[in-house]
Parts: sequence; structure tokens; C-alpha cells
Amino acid sequence: MAHPVLIPILGDQLSLDLSSLDGMEPEDCIILMMEVANETEYVRHHKAKIAYILSAMRHHAEALRDRGWTVDYVMLDDPDNDGSFSGEVARAIERHAPSAIRVTEAGEWRVREMLEQWEERFDLPVTICPDTRFLATHAEFEDWAEGKKQLRMEFFYREMRRKTGLLMDGDKPEGDAWNYDSENRKPAPGGDLLMPRPIRFRPDDTTKAVIALVNAHFADHPGTTDHFRFAVTHEEAMRARLQFLDEALPNFGDYQDVMLRGEPFLWHSILSPYINSGLLDPVDLCRDVEERYRAGKVPLNAAEGFIRQIIGWREYMRGIYWREGPDYVERNFFGADRDLPGFYYDGDTRMECMAQAIGQTLDHAYAHHIQRLMVTGNFAMLAGIDPKQIHVWYLEVYADAYEWVELPNVLGMSQFGDGGLLASKPYASSGNYIDRMSDYCGACAYNVKTRTDEDSCPFNALYWDFLVRNEDKLSGNNRMSLAYRNWERKDSQEKKALRDRAATLLEQIETL
Ligand SMILES: Cc1cc2nc3c(=O)[nH]c(=O)nc-3n(C[C@H](O)[C@H](O)[C@H](O)COP(=O)(O)OP(=O)(O)OC[C@H]3O[C@@H](n4cnc5c(N)ncnc54)[C@H](O)[C@@H]3O)c2cc1C
Ligand code: SF4
Repeated sequence: MAHPVLIPILGDQLSLDLSSLDGMEPEDCIILMMEVANETEYVRHHKAKIAYILSAMRHHAEALRDRGWTVDYVMLDDPDNDGSFSGEVARAIERHAPSAIRVTEAGEWRVREMLEQWEERFDLPVTICPDTRFLATHAEFEDWAEGKKQLRMEFFYREMRRKTGLLMDGDKPEGDAWNYDSENRKPAPGGDLLMPRPIRFRPDDTTKAVIALVNAHFADHPGTTDHFRFAVTHEEAMRARLQFLDEALPNFGDYQDVMLRGEPFLWHSILSPYINSGLLDPVDLCRDVEERYRAGKVPLNAAEGFIRQIIGWREYMRGIYWREGPDYVERNFFGADRDLPGFYYDGDTRMECMAQAIGQTLDHAYAHHIQRLMVTGNFAMLAGIDPKQIHVWYLEVYADAYEWVELPNVLGMSQFGDGGLLASKPYASSGNYIDRMSDYCGACAYNVKTRTDEDSCPFNALYWDFLVRNEDKLSGNNRMSLAYRNWERKDSQEKKALRDRAATLLEQIETL
């Protein structure tokens, strides 16, 4: 092929209808896929996360070849591998003498800046195509956000409902309400309600080879591949999706916030790794959810709750990430600077909620939203952990973590590091919330009902200490006034006991 168009496809661009391929003919193009050390090592990604991405990439290359594309695939252990995207593009230019480069925009500032240098560096025309796998363009999000002091997801979500027509009844929302979240907070179900079991996909030869490679190259990274269960092809991801729709979606809304010991998946979809890497199309999935609601198979609170997560929260997080710029990661509203305790990497803590959330994270590279927000995230914020350190941890340990979605969720939503751009108040809570929504506390070495004893739940004293430490920053927030009034009602002895207990906990944080 003389002077083809070179089309680099990145590890989270595994969609067959990717924008860079749109309108191109296979006989005119070479697709370049690269497994590079820079991407696997710039943070210490969970072993199962790396194995998932590399295996899905290798299967995707085959799927593209089956459709007639020529794919030049560079393996991680290729002795000539340069280790960086730009270095590999330079080598591919030598091999193929392309006339131009065409690439879909990256999902991270670091990589975006790299792509933007290619035209000058390689002296070739470079087309950076918008990522059409998202509903809102950058310009649409900008227009919506323009002039607003606070960027509330709910209002953006309504725009996306109107734009897609999902769950709309003409101009009105289906059922006359936009949001059924108040119905989605049921506590842990008792008895033996049948729990869906997400399919565990058996590793094929490609996945087995990747797992061996990962364990050899990344032995010091967190997590294990022993419980590897991910779909790695488009077909497998579609099977996982169908199983979720059939078995878990009807109860998704009711038990969205529940946490149970030894039950990492509950009624969640476990589809985020596939949606974020491109194996599943998010809007197509939402259309199926709507269809099931309209067919009477799924209640409205479940269908609306699920669709809101995707066309609301997911799109909104992406909008925030690009709007706030590369410095967003530096924000630290509370000036928190404590180091992340070691138990985030081994789950070795007597706090049962943390041991459960971290343990399943290390096993499966997965925890659901409330575990991320109200357990590991909440603890980090209450303890005053440096938000950048906790951001790196989340980016490392979750199979669905790419910076565009992880950073605003962690820094904005869970740590309030942006001072309230994204959340109207910090998601701070004592052990009460965890006790209400889980069965963790009954099995914990700490007592959730007390606050200042030697065995009192650490979340309890840390919650009050967090409020007092940050009073100058939070007391003006209307949504925090009740909490501060409750603090003021306590007598000085109780206040002192709470602060002393918190000081002891923070001193002993590594051994909690
Ligand atoms: C501190 C913290 C860190 C997070 N980091 C990530 C991350 O790195 N990558 C990621 O995809 N999600 C992240 N989330 C959002 C959410 O926790 C995950 O999307 C969800 O747990 C994935 O599991 P699931 O597929 O079973 O989701 P389900 O509960 O089944 O939800 C359905 C889908 O909705 C989408 N979704 C739900 N909530 C969000 C959200 N807040 N932001 C974006 N999409 C959402 C996901 O695509 C998800 O697959 C984070 C949330 C918090 C609080
Ligand atoms: S008692 Fe406290 S530390 Fe223990 S599980 Fe409950 S909330 Fe977590």
C-alpha cells in the first residue's frame, strides 16, 4: 500500500465504529495498535486492569482484521518497542511511510497534549477526530456550563434526556418526574432474595498469554489476576450486557446503594470497563433499557436510575474533566496532606467496611459506586488524605478507571477537592450511613454505635473532627448548617472527647 493513512487506535478506543475509521476505506489505511510501557506504568495499574485492556486490544485487532482492516500491532514485549505512543508512531512512520495520520481524540490531558504535537514532530497532516461515542460535544457542554456558578448534574441530565428523547413523553419526562432517586435508597434486603451472578468469562489462550505477561512484568502492581472474569470481545461484552438487562436491571434501582459482605456485584451492571474501553455503546445500552421499561419488564425507577448514570453522570463527568483543564488535578480545597495509609493496597484493616471494599477491589478491580464514594472515598476525606494520592489510587485499582471519568468522580465528587464545583456539599458521613446501607458493621471489630471509646467506629469521631477542622471552609454552606448546629449543641466535654479520639485515630491510622 503506497502512502496509506496511519490510524493509531488507543487502548480505550476499541469501538468498531470509531470516528477515526468513519468514511475511510480499509485498502487505504494501516491501523496501528500499541501496547506501550508508558501507559501501563505511569501509575501502577491493577494487574487485572492491564490484563483486561491488553487482551481486549488483541481481540479487537482480530475483529478489525476480520472486517478487512490491516492492523499493525505492537506487543508490549516486542524487543524494539519504544515504550511510548509517540515513539511507536515514529517507528510506524518508518515502516509504512504514511501520507497522513488520523486519530480519535484522547481521553486524558496527558495524551491529548502528545497527539497535538504529532503534526509538527512528524511533519505530516494529523486529523484529530472528535470522540463521537459521547452524547455531548465539548462545545455543547461549554454552552450549557457558560455563566453558571455551580454545575449541577441534574440540569445537564435533563438536557441529555431531551436530546436523546430517552424516557420522554413528548416534552415531559416519563411519569412526570425527571428523577426517581428517592425510590432508589432501599437498605440491604433481608432473607434470600435471589442475587444475580454476573458471568465469569473463562480466559482463552490470548487472555492466558496476557495474564502471564502481566504477572511477569507487573508483579509489584496492586491486585491479582487470580479472579479474572472480564469479557474481552465485543460478543462477550454483549452477553454480559444481556445478562445484566435480564437478571439485575429490574432490581438495580431499589438496591443501588446497598453493600453486603462477600457480595461485590449485587444488582450492578459491571459494564463500565466495557463502556469506557469501547466494547459497548452507552446510548445503545440505554435504548435497550428504555425498551424493557416500555415492555413492562423493568420498573421506571430502575430504568431512569440506570439511564441517569450513563447519559447524566457519565457525560457530565467528562464535561467537567475537559472544561476544568489539566490543572484540575492540583485542586485541594481543604489543603489535605496526609499520606494514603498502606491498607489501601492490601486491605489489611480491622474496619470491616474498608476491608470489604478494598479486598474486593484487589480481587476484581471493581467496587460499586457507594463503596467508592461512602467507604473508601469518605474515609480518605474524613482523614484528610492528600487528594492527589487518593486520585492515583482510584486510577490504579479500578478496571474502568480512565482519568476523564475517574478524576472528577474522585477529586470533585468524593473529596470535595474543587470546593463545590460539582457537589453541593461534601459526601462526608459517620458510620451510621454505612450501618444503614450494609451488613458490614455487625462483623466489625469497631462499634458503630459509640463515638469516643477505644473500640468506637473510626468514622464517627473522624466525621466530627473533619467538620471542625474545616469549619472556616464549610460553615457558610447552607447544606452543612444542620451538622454545625448539631456540633454546637454538644457540651465541651463531648467535643473534647471527640477531638481527642480523632487525634488518636489519625496518629494510629496505619494500624486501624
Ligand atoms: C470515588 C469514585 C471513583 C469513581 N471512578 C470511576 C472510574 O474510574 N471509572 C468509571 O467508569 N466510573 C467511576 N466511578 C463511577 C461509578 O462508581 C462506576 O461507574 C460504577 O461503579 C461502575 O460499576 P458498574 O458498571 O457496575 O455501574 P452501575 O452501578 O451498573 O452503573 C451503570 C453505569 O453508569 C455509569 N456511571 C454510574 N455512575 C457514574 C459516575 N459517577 N460517573 C461516570 N459514570 C457513571 C457507568 O458507566 C456504569 O457502568 C467512580 C465513582 C466514585 C464515587
Ligand atoms: S463500625 Fe465503622 S469501621 Fe466498622 S464497618 Fe461499620 S462503619 Fe465501618
